[in-house]
Amino acid sequence: MLNKELASVCGLFCASCGVFYATQEKDFIKLQEIAKKLDIPFDKVNCYGCRSNEKIGSCVNCFIAKCAEEKGVEFCIDCDTYPCGELKEFQKKMPHRKNMWKSLARIKEVGWEKWFVEMFDYYTCQKCNTMNGAYNIECRKCGNSPGNDFVKENML
Ligand SMILES: [Zn+2]
Repeated sequence: MLNKELASVCGLFCASCGVFYATQEKDFIKLQEIAKKLDIPFDKVNCYGCRSNEKIGSCVNCFIAKCAEEKGVEFCIDCDTYPCGELKEFQKKMPHRKNMWKSLARIKEVGWEKWFVEMFDYYTCQKCNTMNGAYNIECRKCGNSPGNDFVKENML
């Protein structure tokens, strides 16, 4: 279950991203939708996580991952300038980024592995154990609401 490629530099959890699980599940209908929505070719829509060699759309040119690589830090919280203005701007843009600060603090506190296990539980449906995203008000498999604890805390 542990896969560091899915522990993003900025503290987001790639396993709960719709693009990631559509890739894993070979959900071609979903991938086609994503390709269309993001205006990228269908063969470029697969994503295996922040630290993998195959990423999607905006994540390919992510300034955060690039910055961390240049500075030689694994996670943003290890950086001298954390939390920088750019990261603050990035965090504010989308609702699913709400827990980034909490996540990064947790990674620092207990290590990415333990955090990763916690996130797995946090983003799965309590009824059927399907991984859901931050915007799955209802579980995409069994329809249970909320789809995960993130939704429970933030959307209901
Ligand atoms: Zn479910």
